[in-house]
Amino acid sequence: MKAIAVTPGKPDSVRLVEMPAPEVTDVPGGRGVLVRVLRVGVDGTDKEINAAEYGAAPEGSDFLVIGHEGFGRVEAVGPNVNEVRPGDYVVATVRRPGRTLYDLIGTSDMTTDDTYFERGINLRHGFLSEYYVEDAEFVVKVPRGLREVGVLLEPLTVVEKGVAQAYEIQRRLRVWRPGRAAVMGAGTIGLLATLVLRLRGLDVVTFGKTPKPYLNAELVEALGAAYVTSGEVPVAESPSRLGGGFDLIFEATGYSPIVFDSMRALAKNGVLVLSSVTGGDRRVEVPADKINLEFVLGNKVMVGTVNANREYFEAGVRDMSQAELEYPGWLKRLLTHPVRGLENYRELFEKLTTVKGAIKVFCEVAD
Ligand code: BGC
Ligand code: ZN
Repeated sequence: MKAIAVTPGKPDSVRLVEMPAPEVTDVPGGRGVLVRVLRVGVDGTDKEINAAEYGAAPEGSDFLVIGHEGFGRVEAVGPNVNEVRPGDYVVATVRRPGRTLYDLIGTSDMTTDDTYFERGINLRHGFLSEYYVEDAEFVVKVPRGLREVGVLLEPLTVVEKGVAQAYEIQRRLRVWRPGRAAVMGAGTIGLLATLVLRLRGLDVVTFGKTPKPYLNAELVEALGAAYVTSGEVPVAESPSRLGGGFDLIFEATGYSPIVFDSMRALAKNGVLVLSSVTGGDRRVEVPADKINLEFVLGNKVMVGTVNANREYFEAGVRDMSQAELEYPGWLKRLLTHPVRGLENYRELFEKLTTVKGAIKVFCEVAD
């Protein structure tokens, strides 16, 4: 079968490879699920992998099949699989267990191992291929009615985990009734975070860089949230300019200095969720005494979040279903840049790296 692969460590090595098709029996215990890949989204992580800044090939392979935002249809299942059947639509999770206690209880997203295994990213082949096989444990069913937007599930799970962690942490307060939230960034993750927080009934302000008119701003407003540029209202000044601090802030800009401004925009007892993977070496000067004092006197908390386990994929499916009922057609508007066929991998990466205003670039591997 065909697949899109890179040679990790070698810049711009993306290419088409030919490899044996997987079989349902590749997974032990009769628990295999063979999936025909339909669509795969790409994101900043793929960009970094092809730039040789990130990623590793599986042991014994000199290439890594990329793609971690998969969506496909079950082709065959092993004799001990009853969770899904041939014809079902599915998305597979990304991370595979390591050795810590967290890995053993199905929460490998919380692993404390330094080496982690992620399909399409680190030490495991990904989904940009015609087929993949996976243990049923890591395959999540997507309802038929979501098949048009199922490719957005994996990025959504990053948000689901962050928001769930925030609520979990806030149980420290005995009573927490968040009213106001802010989302930093209006890219794919920022838009999905705006959606999830609106579905939870919060007032949301989403901060972006680009002035209106701007598709992403329109999408924010279509959810009944407000779009503000950090040029108009600097984030650190937003509590005095926008009627108070925020009970929950979700940071997804990829620009680390905004973290320190966000710390200043939190309300008392507020929680700040960090989700940007920033591989650089940026430095900034910050008002350390002020930030620290406000955190201490305001009982504030900040938490980092990476990856997502099965629980958050299932939560993502529920939120997507609710989103389709509450904001019909909204999710589909994020699918701005399709590229047909694995063989057009060049075009896929060109769109990913050069198109300004692309929300989700994805490969239509099969119909
Ligand atoms: C993926 C996550 C992964 C993270 C770090 C993100 O792009 O969506 O699943 O854990 O990169 O590798
Ligand atoms: Zn990703």
